[in-house]
Amino acid sequence: MAAAASKTVPAHAPSLWAATAPPPPPTTGLQESLQADVVIIGGGVTGLSTALHMAERGISAVVLEAARTGFGGSGRNSGHIIPTLAAGDPDALVAKFGGDAGERMVAFLRDSAALTFELIKRHNIDCDAVQNGWAQPAHRPSRMKLLEKRYGEWSRRQARTEMLDAGQIGALLGTGVYHGALFMHTGGHVNPLALAQGIATAAIGQGAKVFTGSPALTVARDGGKWRVTTPSGQVTAERLVVATNAYTGALIPALARTLVRIINYQVSTHPLPDAVAATVMPGDIASSDTQRDLYPFRKDRAQRLVTGATLALPLNMDARIRPWIAERIGNVFPQIEDRRLEYVWNGRIAMTPNRLPRVHEIGPGAITPIAYNGRGMAMGVAMGRELADWAEGKPADALGLPKMEIQPRPLLSALGGWAQAALVRYRQLDRRD
Ligand SMILES: Cc1cc2nc3c(=O)[nH]c(=O)nc-3n(C[C@H](O)[C@H](O)[C@H](O)COP(=O)(O)OP(=O)(O)OC[C@H]3O[C@@H](n4cnc5c(N)ncnc54)[C@H](O)[C@@H]3O)c2cc1C
Repeated sequence: MAAAASKTVPAHAPSLWAATAPPPPPTTGLQESLQADVVIIGGGVTGLSTALHMAERGISAVVLEAARTGFGGSGRNSGHIIPTLAAGDPDALVAKFGGDAGERMVAFLRDSAALTFELIKRHNIDCDAVQNGWAQPAHRPSRMKLLEKRYGEWSRRQARTEMLDAGQIGALLGTGVYHGALFMHTGGHVNPLALAQGIATAAIGQGAKVFTGSPALTVARDGGKWRVTTPSGQVTAERLVVATNAYTGALIPALARTLVRIINYQVSTHPLPDAVAATVMPGDIASSDTQRDLYPFRKDRAQRLVTGATLALPLNMDARIRPWIAERIGNVFPQIEDRRLEYVWNGRIAMTPNRLPRVHEIGPGAITPIAYNGRGMAMGVAMGRELADWAEGKPADALGLPKMEIQPRPLLSALGGWAQAALVRYRQLDRRD
């Protein structure tokens, strides 16, 4: 008999999302030897959406998650559903990757948020989904030029986008600090842990197998197939998907050495009093401004303000984050007088030097989409559909994200959290814009 996910399985981060998400689907640890078409390592939105899309097409998929569904970035993030990259606008992507691959990537990004909300609707996922749009407000007048350019490039590619003036974005956000904004209509926000767990429920409902408390310990080729072992079982499959993103460990050492991991904090206030809540983000959108040192804002269903920050110095961060964030909240929403925080948690973001995500082929029939650079919710969900296409024979270099050779950068990845110090430079640039 299979053992229930035991108490030794790491708990979720103590987040707002863990406190408010509906229960996850019941899952157990892997205690047997299984055969499948595809074995997927990692139970975040990428791995789970991949399993769901495959199961919907009759492809047998097994997910092995070391901890719990949504344990990694998928359960800890801000829950912004964003159809763009943080760095990399359409024309630059086309210039970098060429006409076909570049435009394919742009279309993939453009459609990723809509695909996410459609999937939520199709499977009736209870995750507080709000598709009122995502805005990128200009923190300086000079940033409007960048946003106009961005708007032009996306609207030429049929994205549902518009430019807002200072009054319009001020009315949506309830703050006068911004000078205008780029607005993407298909964006929005969710409880991200509820989304990950809901995708797991849907995938299981469609016939996928999801095991928690089941870390992949070894990956090997055996008789032309992939064999993945866990502490109490193994899965043999034609194809392998590694969906571990910023939580990639030593399983495939070269992969971990392609990334820099940044610790990002998320916080929420207590529920705002009704009179204050009515003036803070009355448009109920998600928003992340033009600063390189990100200022993300949204509310949850109980009218808490949810925001986040990265600290440049990776020391004593738990203690330093509260006053830092309270000051930032006050800068944008001075009407919030009670800036005590109800929830504070953090997660790892997988970054690359050029801040672009990519796909690596890591062996015959083995693939990993990785390094979403802090924008992996919509992209991860959308990657699930791409990987189902791949399992049906679509070549890896025809997917929505560009296929690249693994280029380990041991020095860079060894920097670890100290790479956060780059923020000092970002803040200088933000002040000069
Ligand atoms: C604080 C924070 C805020 C963010 N905000 C946003 C946002 O607002 N919008 C947005 O789009 N993106 C955001 N991101 C990024 C986003 O969360 C990630 O890009 C996305 O969740 C990646 O999903 P994933 O499924 O690929 O990886 P993850 O969700 O990280 O899942 C990887 C999983 O692999 C498991 N794993 C690792 N090794 C093994 C192993 N050997 N065996 C089995 N399992 C293993 C881990 O336990 C983990 O659950 C944020 C990230 C963080 C950390």
